[in-house]
Amino acid sequence: ILRITALRKSYGAHEVLKGIDLDVARGEVVAIIGKSGSGKSTLLRCINGLEVFQQGSLIVDGRHLLHDNPKAMRELRQGVGMIFQSFNLFPHLTVGQNVMLAPHLVKRRGRAQNAERARALLARVGLSEKFDAMPDKLSGGQQQRVAIARALAMDPAIMLCDEITSALDPELVGEVLRVVESLADEGMTLLMVTHEMSFARKVADRVIFMHQGLVHEMGPPETIFGAPQTPELRQFLGLME
Ligand code: ATP
Ligand code: MG
Repeated sequence: ILRITALRKSYGAHEVLKGIDLDVARGEVVAIIGKSGSGKSTLLRCINGLEVFQQGSLIVDGRHLLHDNPKAMRELRQGVGMIFQSFNLFPHLTVGQNVMLAPHLVKRRGRAQNAERARALLARVGLSEKFDAMPDKLSGGQQQRVAIARALAMDPAIMLCDEITSALDPELVGEVLRVVESLADEGMTLLMVTHEMSFARKVADRVIFMHQGLVHEMGPPETIFGAPQTPELRQFLGLME
């Protein structure tokens, strides 16, 4: 569903991604780990078209990412859901309106149908009773679950998650991870940057260790965490303990 070939991305003279090759199959759950500055967020931002890259190719759900074609970019973005560390809910809209906004604007679904879908998605993330609440009345964990429902409302073919629990108080991390795990169980294709090593170990089909702008090591969680092959990964995992 995702094919990245020889992807290179620089900010000015600073090359951040130095030739990334990565395939993700439909329904696969892939965790990305690595030190700060290794290029994890930049990679995700390239995949949903938020960043222009200089070399290589990127195909999402059969569509080539072409920056010079606005229509193709729009279609591609609609197929890619993204959730960030900061929840970025629209503060002046209710929870329900937050979930309904993008499908309303883009998919031109009928109002009643759209609302019904939003209710179903909020139920799925355990927030059915919050439809009419304002975001600032919710805990961080609840806001992040609304952000997940909002991303799901666009029926993305792949969901990108960038350290979505990093801004949360420790006691709220579990409720968000449980939602992500349920998505994985239901067959959603997930590419997630995470510092939650035990979660990656449990949920991911495959783990990617990024180091200095390259995929340095990649494999099943048992191998990556249980038998790391390179000194860089061993050092990284040592630091995370
Ligand atoms: P972290 O774990 O801290 O989130 P990361 O692996 O996500 O790190 P990136 O955010 O992808 O790392 O950044 C990779 C490199 O690119 C860093 O050296 C960073 O300083 C640089 N960088 C990121 N965004 C920009 C930008 N908009 N302009 C210039 N340099 C940037
Ligand atoms: Mg990052």
